[in-house]
Amino acid sequence: MTKSKGLLIILSGPSGVGKGTICRSLCRENDTIVCATSLTTRTPRRGEQDGVDYFFVDEKKFCELKDQGSFLEWAEVHGNLYATLTGEVERLRQKECDVILEIDVQGAAQVRRSTDEGICIFLLPPNMEELWQRIEGRGTDKPEAMQERFRNARRELMEVWQYDYVVINNTVSEAVNDIKSIIMAEKCRVERNKQFLKSFVGKGDGH
Ligand code: 5GP
Repeated sequence: MTKSKGLLIILSGPSGVGKGTICRSLCRENDTIVCATSLTTRTPRRGEQDGVDYFFVDEKKFCELKDQGSFLEWAEVHGNLYATLTGEVERLRQKECDVILEIDVQGAAQVRRSTDEGICIFLLPPNMEELWQRIEGRGTDKPEAMQERFRNARRELMEVWQYDYVVINNTVSEAVNDIKSIIMAEKCRVERNKQFLKSFVGKGDGH
């Protein structure tokens, strides 16, 4: 099949559901899958590195970039600002990498409005008790912040209907396999292989 631009995959789901772990695992296992590094005004957590986990910026820099139209989407999440850089996503997709955006539901809605190319996947926890345990277990946030994340999680879950696929994070390997299957199926869509098909079978109307 002909080579083309990489896929644009949007992965959302409530805080603590394991999006980060799943993205890292997908990227480790597949050279052609990359996670776009977002920009945030949040303070780095212990062990987080600038340019790796996020580009950590102050609010002034964030607003400058926003005003310059550098963002594919942006949102305020749990009191901090987050954004995806259009340039970075395009650069990676041109290199035929499948790009994953690990973003919240507001950001995903913006991407959907600006392009119909995104494949939207919603990651669910096995149940709400498990989600609370994961938020608590991370031990990186203060109790009020954890409560806020859990409240937001309930709101975010209501957005699942806007997505193309749902994956349940029972185990990392199962969720990663499900996402790999989605990527594989998307790559096999007739729509995505039109050029190749035209040269292979001609320009027939399908009959
Ligand atoms: P955390 O602060 O725990 O790393 O992320 C908090 C939330 O922000 C998560 O739901 C995460 O998906 C979301 N997030 C991270 N980067 C972006 C981004 O670039 N855009 C948007 N809209 N949300 C993001």
